[in-house]
Parts: sequence; structure tokens; C-alpha cells
Amino acid sequence: MRSLRHGYHGDTFGAMSVCDPDNSVHRLYQGIFIKHLFAPAPQCRFEQEWNEQDIAPFAALLQQHAGKVAAVILEPIVQGAGGVRIYHLTYLKRVRELCDHYQILLIVDEIATGFGRTGELFACAHALVVSDMLCLGKALTGVI
Ligand SMILES: *Cc1c(COP(=O)(O)O)cnc(C)c1O
Repeated sequence: MRSLRHGYHGDTFGAMSVCDPDNSVHRLYQGIFIKHLFAPAPQCRFEQEWNEQDIAPFAALLQQHAGKVAAVILEPIVQGAGGVRIYHLTYLKRVRELCDHYQILLIVDEIATGFGRTGELFACAHALVVSDMLCLGKALTGVI
């Protein structure tokens, strides 16, 4: 599996193993988790002009490990670890294209963003991206 730096996916063991490995309390558990690959966090912000270089480190990592990666998991558009980061929708589009190219599943964590919290029903809709799997949680219960 691969994930993004600055990502947050929860506090159970499987979820913690795909959260940012350095910038959270989850760091304390390193060595216990299954090892995953982490791409640098997107740098281009939602309202900025898209810079194609932003996807390059992700693309390179995926190409290098394509045969061994089962899935990519990320928070679409809004990352929530160590502060809220709202990134460019084209980043998500490119991730979808790369996952399609290498036949890798795309899992989006819409636990914080689902059901209208970013202005679209799901954050993926900003980029017209359809994931292979979608995680829901507190968006259903109203607790954040
Ligand atoms: C809260 C949260 C989770 C964890 O959800 P649980 O149902 O508590 O496991 C995962 N991802 C994101 C983006 C969250 O905000």
C-alpha cells in the first residue's frame, strides 16, 4: 500500500500505519506497523495554479514500486494531519490516472470530507474522480 505524507486515517493499527509516519504521535509505534510507502504531500494548493511538477515524486515512486503496490490511500482534496491542507484537484486527477495506468486500486478516505463538507457531496467530485473504494465514518455521524 502507499500513502501520502501529512495524511491522517485514524487511530486503529491498520489506519495508523498509513498516517504520516513522522509528524504525529503514531511515530511512537513505528516498528510495529506494516511498512508502507509514503509520497511527499501535495504542495500545490487548491486555489493556486496547477504545477505539473507537484505529481512527479508520486509518479516516480509509483513507477518504481508498481508491481508491488496493491492500493493507494489518500484523503481527497483535504489532508488533516498536522493542520488542514487543501490541495489542488489536479493532483487527485493525476493520482487516479496513474492508478489506472498501473492497475492499482485507489482508496479515498472521505471520513472527514464526505456528505458535503467541502461543498461537493464527496471531495472527489471536485476533480470528477471516482475511486475504487471510499471510506466513510464521522461524515455519517456528524462528529469530527
Ligand atoms: C477521524 C478520521 C478517521 C478515523 O475514523 P474512525 O472511524 O475513528 O476510525 C480516518 N480518516 C479521517 C480523514 C478522519 O478524519
